Amino acid sequence: MIKVENLRKSFGKLEVLKGITTTIKQGEVVAIIGPSGSGKSTFLRCLNLLEEPTDGKVWIGDQEITNRKTNIMKVRQNVGMVFQHFHLFPHMTVLENLTYAPMKVKGMAKAEAEAKAMELLRKVGLAQKANEYPSRLSGGQKQRVAIARALAMSPEVMLFDEPTSALDPEMVKEVLEVMKSLAHTGMTMAIVTHEMGFAREVADRVLFLDGGLLVEDASPSEFFSAPKSKRAQEFLEKML
Ligand code: ADP
Ligand code: MG
Repeated sequence: MIKVENLRKSFGKLEVLKGITTTIKQGEVVAIIGPSGSGKSTFLRCLNLLEEPTDGKVWIGDQEITNRKTNIMKVRQNVGMVFQHFHLFPHMTVLENLTYAPMKVKGMAKAEAEAKAMELLRKVGLAQKANEYPSRLSGGQKQRVAIARALAMSPEVMLFDEPTSALDPEMVKEVLEVMKSLAHTGMTMAIVTHEMGFAREVADRVLFLDGGLLVEDASPSEFFSAPKSKRAQEFLEKML
C-alpha cells in the first residue's frame, strides 16, 4: 500500500531523513518509534506530501506521489492524518467538522455526508456530541472526532502523529481503543507513538528511527524483547 524508496528530506542544510526505504502492506499497522528529533513526524508528513521530499520516491497504492504529475489533492483525500493537537475547525460543530471535506472536496450531498458522519461518530462513541463545538469537548473526545473526521473521507491509509501525546493520562485509553478497533477493520495505519504497550499489542511491525535513519524494522516481539541495535536498546531502557 505504501512504498518508500531512499527517502531524503533536508531543511536547508539540516538533513532530517537520510535515505529511508520500507514498505507497508495493505492492512498492516506500523508503529514508528524513536527519540525526539529523529525525523518521525517528517517521515509521516512526507507520506502525504505535507512535506516535499528532497529525494527518493513514495508510492501510495500504485500512485507515485513524488512524481510531479501526481495530483496532490487526490493523494491527500486518500491518506487521512491525525495530529497530536487535533486541528479541528473551531468554528464548526462536530458534525460540520466531519461533513465539510466530503461535501466540499468530494461533492457529497449533505444528507449522505451527515448520515456517514453520524455513523462514524457512533463508532467513536460521540454521536451525542454531533452538535457541540470542539471547545466543549475533552481532549480525548476531540481526538476521537479528529479520527472520525479523517475517516469521513474514506481514506485507504491513516497516518497518526503522536495522537495521544497531548492528552491527559485518563484520556489516552479511549483514543487507543478507537485506534485499535480501526486496526481490526483492516485499515492500513502508520502511527508515530510513545505508547509502547499499544505498539507491542496492536502493531504488526515496528520501525525504529534514529538520526534520520531507519535503524530497525522488526516485528513487535522481536523489537521489544531483543532489539538488535544499541540505539534501540538504550531508547527502550529509557522508555520502559
Ligand atoms: P520527531 O517527530 O522524530 O521528533 P521531526 O521530524 O519533527 O522529529 O524533526 C526532525 C528534525 O527536523 C528536528 O531537528 C527538527 O527541528 C527538524 N525540523 C522539522 N521540521 C522542520 C522545518 N519545517 N524546518 C526546519 N527544521 C525542521
Ligand atoms: Mg514528531
